[in-house]
Amino acid sequence: MSRKKRAFAVIGLGTFGRQVATQLADLGNEVLGIDIDERKVNPIADRLDQAVIADARDEQALKEAGLGDCDVALVAIGEDLEANILCTMTAQILGVPEVWVKAMNKMHHRILHRIGATRVIHPESEIGTHVAHMLHTPYMVDYVSLGNRSLVAIVSVPEALQGQGVTDLDLEGYDIRCLGMVRGSDFVPCNGEADLAFRPGDRMLLLGRRDGLQRFATDLM
Ligand code: ADP
Repeated sequence: MSRKKRAFAVIGLGTFGRQVATQLADLGNEVLGIDIDERKVNPIADRLDQAVIADARDEQALKEAGLGDCDVALVAIGEDLEANILCTMTAQILGVPEVWVKAMNKMHHRILHRIGATRVIHPESEIGTHVAHMLHTPYMVDYVSLGNRSLVAIVSVPEALQGQGVTDLDLEGYDIRCLGMVRGSDFVPCNGEADLAFRPGDRMLLLGRRDGLQRFATDLM
């Protein structure tokens, strides 16, 4: 694989790995996909730069597939912990600078961390937590957690607030700040001077602590 672009390898093309691999390819990246099962490889072979049927426990096979030429590897093998861990180690031995790995449980997470995985992810529990927070907080469309219990949240403006503006809201009372408004495909920043009157379909971009945002959103109901 050429190293002109950032090259990715995805090992394990189950539901999660396949989605990551094809999305990375659709975004214009160079992608090598590897799976032991030809039924997982063949259907997406046309969409990737390279698709290889190989056992991730086999260091030589991974080397021949070109894993060592990749800049980032994602190990997305789920159930087979042995294959997952061996593949993570092989990616490092072959010199892949960044190795992201899907973990099945806490102990697995600790092992992957110990052996030097760049990032350990738990796709199902992470998305589960994310969805729970969105369901829990009224009007919250999406959010990014900043750590320290702070977040940036996209909150849709309820109909009852039409005709009012950002400055009519008591945001200070909740210790939150409005960074701006997502209006259609535009972003209108809140500079504190302009009284942004809400329009149908507007979404507020709010920064604050989780509890303050929760109280604010609940009071909007
Ligand atoms: P998901 O929940 O994302 O579908 P799975 O654990 O079901 O995750 O899928 C993992 C993928 O990893 C499967 O496509 C499976 O064929 C593949 N896989 C399992 N063991 C190996 C291995 N030793 N080498 C390469 N791929 C493997």
